Amino acid sequence: MTAEKRSFQAEVSKLLQIVANSLYSEREVFLRELISNAADACDKLRYLALTDADLVAGDPDFKIRLSVNADEKTLTIADNGVGMTEEELDQNLGTIASSGTGAFIDNLTGDAKKDVGLIGQFGVGFYSAFMVSEKVEVLTRKAGDEKAWIWTSDGLGEYTVASAEKAGRGTIITLHLKEDASEFLEEPRLRNIVKTYSDHIAIPIMLAKGDDGEDALNEASALWTRQKSEITPEQYTEFYRHVSHGFDEPWLTTHWRAEGRFEYNALLFTPSSPPFDLYHPDRKHRVKLYVKRVFITEDCEGLVPEYLRFLKGVIDCEDLPLNVSRELLQKNPMLTAISSAVTKRILNELTRKADKDTEAYNAFWENFGAVLKEGLYGAPNEHKQTLLDLVRFKSTTRDGLVSLKQYVEGMKDGQEHIYYITGESQDAIRNSPHLEGFAAKGIEVLLLSDPIDDFWIPSLFEGYAEKQFQSVTRGGADLDKVKDADDKDDAEKDETKDEDKAKTDVAPLVASIKIALGETVKDVRESARLTDSACCLVADDGDLDMNLERILRQHQQVKEAAPRVLEINPKHPLIKGLSERVKAGKTGQDLDDAAYLLLDQARIMDGETVTDPKAFARRMSKVMEMGLVS
Ligand code: ADP
Repeated sequence: MTAEKRSFQAEVSKLLQIVANSLYSEREVFLRELISNAADACDKLRYLALTDADLVAGDPDFKIRLSVNADEKTLTIADNGVGMTEEELDQNLGTIASSGTGAFIDNLTGDAKKDVGLIGQFGVGFYSAFMVSEKVEVLTRKAGDEKAWIWTSDGLGEYTVASAEKAGRGTIITLHLKEDASEFLEEPRLRNIVKTYSDHIAIPIMLAKGDDGEDALNEASALWTRQKSEITPEQYTEFYRHVSHGFDEPWLTTHWRAEGRFEYNALLFTPSSPPFDLYHPDRKHRVKLYVKRVFITEDCEGLVPEYLRFLKGVIDCEDLPLNVSRELLQKNPMLTAISSAVTKRILNELTRKADKDTEAYNAFWENFGAVLKEGLYGAPNEHKQTLLDLVRFKSTTRDGLVSLKQYVEGMKDGQEHIYYITGESQDAIRNSPHLEGFAAKGIEVLLLSDPIDDFWIPSLFEGYAEKQFQSVTRGGADLDKVKDADDKDDAEKDETKDEDKAKTDVAPLVASIKIALGETVKDVRESARLTDSACCLVADDGDLDMNLERILRQHQQVKEAAPRVLEINPKHPLIKGLSERVKAGKTGQDLDDAAYLLLDQARIMDGETVTDPKAFARRMSKVMEMGLVS
């Protein structure tokens, strides 16, 4: 069969261009990527061989072998792992399948210098071979198959696949090194790279010597089974990069051995930067499950909860059976117990970090807080209290982040609720009119702008420290009960009486606006939460919160906005003036128009559009005419 030409998927071409042309400062990492793939291929076959020993018959010991040919200027990385079929070659080395990656690559700008940092986040994988090679050949034979295939490419848009001969299973990758990459033919250089990046690999990595000789380049014992004291920070970091396919540093490394009811080793990393697909619907955790050093799966649902899906690393269990299917394994009650213990441990580590180093914890919170909060919504969660203490908020009265404990400690005398506001962005909610009355009284309001916030807070029926959460955009604002900063003296009490009077004064106006607006609003009320603005919209008790409704509308889960309560500020000059008009019997079209303009104003302040733009413009022009022209 002659070699068949095929084109790379567009995303791959783009990626290749960036990788090959980038002046990547540590291009030696290509070797780490290829060794990492080879080790994964061995892990995969070891798992398959648990149920089909024939797959490794005659060659039971896994290894990765490097060899150089100085004359040909080639470096070869060979493994006796699982190998690939023709389809798999096409799939794996011609397309980018993993969810979210395609879209991510579409967003790359094409500017190598800028993009390389981004690509680094998820690792360049196999394609990094083209940083140092002008041509790459992949000769591979799937374990259990007779046929072998050879894939060849210069990394410029096309590759060829042809059938080939290969003794035994596995993959041999031959790199025809670029002119300026001959350093990778030198033995000391290779030894050094393997030591630096791949020492933690549990499969032996050998360097071919002379005719048949080999030298071991790594320790080849699973890093997570070694004593903590024997592992250097660099080794942890490199292991982290191996499991995460990333280039950043771990923010938190948690390594422990559990003994007792269940025995397991866990080595888990919290990254220092969020992965690009953290919110992709298909995003799963990246914790690999091993049983007695045998890799089982990196896709074990329930091994760690979704709200810890930023974790990367390994959990290696001693007591789980090796010879059951992945599916059955996932239902094993032991796994549930381990998951719970692992979650507890990680949350405790986070708590410790939060107590010890506020700044570092806040950086973590910026990256993963929105994910952690998912743990507070949905299924009952035995870790709820710990999670609640880990949550951080922006607020109206502080610069940094505040915890619920701090919030409650700072509550005013007479304040019964934990006040919060949710919205699309911090900027939008910081300027919300709903906050005015709270600001005037110096009451702290939590500012929440992650979509999840509209779900977890309302689901928290028991509140926090016996205080219920209350949105400042809903229900009646019971601000009267909260004492002002300085204790009330008599003068103030008088003022309060005046306010009461002002309230009764607007009653006729409230009634007129109600008649004018009819069904478009649920009710019209005088407001206790406004000081500067004339009006605002609030959700009635028991109604859907306004921001939640907005989110649901965006997702087509709610069709129409429900009528809201229009609150008017009895102390505002406009409201006072309108009130006088009504009392003087001057109702009619002008007042109706004013009512609609108030409603539209309130909608605009909430970031909504006006319901009837044409009518709005007509009314606005009329009012301007009256005020400015006549
Ligand atoms: P990643 O390793 O992040 O999935 P790569 O681009 O490095 O991405 O590799 C793509 C896929 O090609 C791998 O997921 C694997 O299925 C396959 N692959 C790469 N190298 C080998 C190998 N040596 N043996 C078997 N399969 C391999």
